[in-house]
Amino acid sequence: MIRITDKKRCTGCEACANVCPVQAITMLPDREGFLYPTVDESICVECGLCVKRCPVLVERCVGRPIVAYAVQNKDECVRRESSSGGAFTAIAQEVLRQGGLVFGAAFDPKFEVVHISVSASDELSRFRGSKYVQSRIGTTYAEVKKALLAGMYVCFSGTPCQIEGLMQYLGKPYDNLIAVDVVCHGVPSPKLFRKYLNYQQDKYGPLKGIYFRDKSYGYAGSTMALRFTSGRTISNGRELQFFKDTFFRNLSTRPSCYACPFKTAGRVSDFTLFDCWHIGNWNRKMDDDKGTTFVLIHTSKGRDLFEKLMPELRYCLVDALAAVATDGDMAVASIPSHPARSSFFADMDRLSVPMLMKKYVPSSLFRHVLFLVKPILFRMHLLPILKRLLK
Ligand SMILES: Cc1cc2nc3c(=O)[nH]c(=O)nc-3n(C[C@H](O)[C@H](O)[C@H](O)COP(=O)(O)OP(=O)(O)OC[C@H]3O[C@@H](n4cnc5c(N)ncnc54)[C@H](O)[C@@H]3O)c2cc1C
Repeated sequence: MIRITDKKRCTGCEACANVCPVQAITMLPDREGFLYPTVDESICVECGLCVKRCPVLVERCVGRPIVAYAVQNKDECVRRESSSGGAFTAIAQEVLRQGGLVFGAAFDPKFEVVHISVSASDELSRFRGSKYVQSRIGTTYAEVKKALLAGMYVCFSGTPCQIEGLMQYLGKPYDNLIAVDVVCHGVPSPKLFRKYLNYQQDKYGPLKGIYFRDKSYGYAGSTMALRFTSGRTISNGRELQFFKDTFFRNLSTRPSCYACPFKTAGRVSDFTLFDCWHIGNWNRKMDDDKGTTFVLIHTSKGRDLFEKLMPELRYCLVDALAAVATDGDMAVASIPSHPARSSFFADMDRLSVPMLMKKYVPSSLFRHVLFLVKPILFRMHLLPILKRLLK
């Protein structure tokens, strides 16, 4: 049976809990707020499936992407609501047009991030935009399998570990499944996110919406925005924003993200999506600071689907490995752990949000200036220097 002795070797993908034939495995949060499997030994029949289907423990065999594009959805409203160019919505819409089902990460009414499915195009907005919190898979792998066996066309999207978890859970390939993963920096603690939201709601009242990548100041200058039912909105760039700042400084991330085994250019998915920050380098006409998605296509099934989407997209062909090298370092490299990570999590329950902020991500005049000049630095291709300054 599965026993987690090294937290770096459990991504929380929930494959083990889903594959267990007697439901002996429950995913429980640790003190940092990340989920890990716990086996009820009185129920366990020792079939070993939980170990055999753990994507971290099995050997993987992946090739290289077959083709890659930089993509913008022609629907400007969709593009504005999406983190980058709105490629995901275009893929999902095609699946829905064929009577399919789309799975992805959405906020529930309490602003927990959970995996759900939708069958109507107007519900796809729930998936738009990256949520920088680990989402709960729940029973969605089983729902995917049921739909696939019923012959439905299914699109499942998530982080690379969730896609690997799904593939292991399914145990065999399905022609009617389209798997979409996002390049993933890592996932921050849901417990920290809850603490942060409680702090903000105590100050400003109930929340109406959360946008991790609000484009009101453009794509390069995107901010995290919180909208409250009172009509108030607070919107800050990463440099001034406690939650996103702890995330990008690698203080609040899941241990397995520091040694992610799925960060390779080749994937088990059909599509990999990530930010194309410097579209001007590839195609000047597409450079409008409204967001562009790099799309790596790994399978002929993915390529066939993409060809159907082309009329809805502005796109240009790019070299896949060059795209990964310029903007997608997170596709192939795990983040380094922050030296103060343990102390941050030790303080998380003890200290208030303002105290954590003061101790770990203090505001300064430099950071305020950085927020203002960030879009200019991006346009001048000074992103690597900016990244170094933020460390
Ligand atoms: C946690 C996280 C970290 C990321 N880190 C990077 C990075 O370092 N570099 C980079 O280039 N791109 C990163 N991305 C991907 C990027 O932000 C965009 O999601 C991607 O460019 C696709 O954008 P889009 O405009 O096509 O679609 P969008 O509409 O923005 O994408 C939405 C898709 O993301 C999925 N999604 C959203 N939140 C989650 C979540 N918490 N868990 C699982 N799936 C989720 C949805 O199911 C949907 O498929 C990250 C995304 C996430 C969720």
